[in-house]
Amino acid sequence: MNSARTSQSARISQAEAERHPLLWDGDVVVVGGGSAGSAAAVAAARRGASTLLVEGAAHLGGTGASVLDTFYGFYAPGTGDRVVGGVGWEVCQALTDRKAAFERPNTYGAGTGVTYDPETLKLVWDELTGSAGVRVLFHARASRVVMEGVNVLGVVVETVAGPGYVRARVVIDASGDADIAWRAGAALERPAEDRVVQPLTQTFRLAGVDAAATPTAELHRLMALHADSGAYKLPRREGSVHRTTEPGVVHTNVTRVSGVDPTDPWQLSAAEQEGRRQAVEYTRFLREQVPGYEQAFPIGSAPRIGVRESRRLIGEYVLDREDVLTARQFEDAIALCGAPIEDHAAGQRTIWRYVGSGDRTPTGRTYGVPYRCLLPRGVEALLVAGRCLSATHDAHASVRSIGQCMAMGQAAGTAAALAVSAGSRPRDVDAVGLREQLAADGALLSPG
Ligand SMILES: Cc1cc2nc3c(=O)[nH]c(=O)nc-3n(C[C@H](O)[C@H](O)[C@H](O)COP(=O)(O)OP(=O)(O)OC[C@H]3O[C@@H](n4cnc5c(N)ncnc54)[C@H](O)[C@@H]3O)c2cc1C
Repeated sequence: MNSARTSQSARISQAEAERHPLLWDGDVVVVGGGSAGSAAAVAAARRGASTLLVEGAAHLGGTGASVLDTFYGFYAPGTGDRVVGGVGWEVCQALTDRKAAFERPNTYGAGTGVTYDPETLKLVWDELTGSAGVRVLFHARASRVVMEGVNVLGVVVETVAGPGYVRARVVIDASGDADIAWRAGAALERPAEDRVVQPLTQTFRLAGVDAAATPTAELHRLMALHADSGAYKLPRREGSVHRTTEPGVVHTNVTRVSGVDPTDPWQLSAAEQEGRRQAVEYTRFLREQVPGYEQAFPIGSAPRIGVRESRRLIGEYVLDREDVLTARQFEDAIALCGAPIEDHAAGQRTIWRYVGSGDRTPTGRTYGVPYRCLLPRGVEALLVAGRCLSATHDAHASVRSIGQCMAMGQAAGTAAALAVSAGSRPRDVDAVGLREQLAADGALLSPG
């Protein structure tokens, strides 16, 4: 098998699904417990929906807990105004209260970040989902979508006890890869040879570092110098090596594995190996060439390579570059975003284009993310949230930060609960009522 972007045979009827044991039956099932899915589950459960959160890994937080340690998107570069509230901001506060997070000033363009301890983040999500009454199923991958006509009725999940049927009134796809929307046959934009997605990055941590000894600009200068000399194979000559909540420990976001279709299992496997090779090479460079890193030693790498972009929904609205650069607002906006287009696909460098200016000047302005970006076309009882929302490549390069993923998740969970309580479809949820509920629950929806 050369390419596995083929099998969509995972759509089955209710009769076929009922051959499996009924594992759970309720109002809302969320597939994927990353930033979007965990926020969605908390919001749905708080609004009274019985809610199951299905996660393939052993913890919540997804990419935010396994690959990264900094939330972006909470603050708009330029003014520094906070533009995300609600569940996402609760997570930030819970981390800060435990002294497991601090705000890190903008060093290379994305605005003020919230740097946290990923292990504490996992606990915070356990507590938030637990106190909201969410049922969580780990080590469980949704492998099939149960459908009658255009209606999604649930999913089949693969567990340690074999496959089981999970039935729900609304399914939220927060898988990052639009796994459920894809299986349900929804319109999607998929990686292709002529549709390159952003590169992948293997992140890793080093201890024994005096990070203050080399400012970021000098680090970037040294990277370019030693990559150009041919002494080191460094595909990216900038990126982030930053302090963490642990003394003497830095987190890195520097490796770059380009030209990969992350929905092709063979390419993804090769990318894992290339990411590991690069992590060793960057470590060698840092130790040998960068003041403050002479005694550095590796203390761990992400359990899987970080995927920025893969399949994305083509929903009722497709957020695009113009919307971002003109700071467009929408009547059905369920989140705000002030993050720039940050496109890593441009060779060794990264392209930055700011909201409201279209160039490298941060303005502090925001655009809205319409509810319609979470609604598939032609498939019912399904919502999509997080990095697989409906957006073009360029708009996605702005809206994919964790702050916005959590805000979208909260909106999807709230909309699902409203649909369940009204006995209606997610697409029939009144955007005005949804926005009122979100605002009452702390979401920030009005541009400053
Ligand atoms: C290298 C890299 C660096 C980045 N840097 C930053 C940064 O510094 N700050 C920032 O804010 N953003 C950053 N981003 C972007 C941000 O991390 C992501 O856009 C965001 O985390 C996506 O959240 P999500 O909830 O949509 O998806 P994810 O966090 O990827 O969660 C998806 C979850 O779904 C689960 N899953 C998938 N399929 C199934 C299935 N079929 N059944 C069950 N479970 C399933 C996965 O296990 C996963 O836990 C970065 C991304 C990458 C890759």
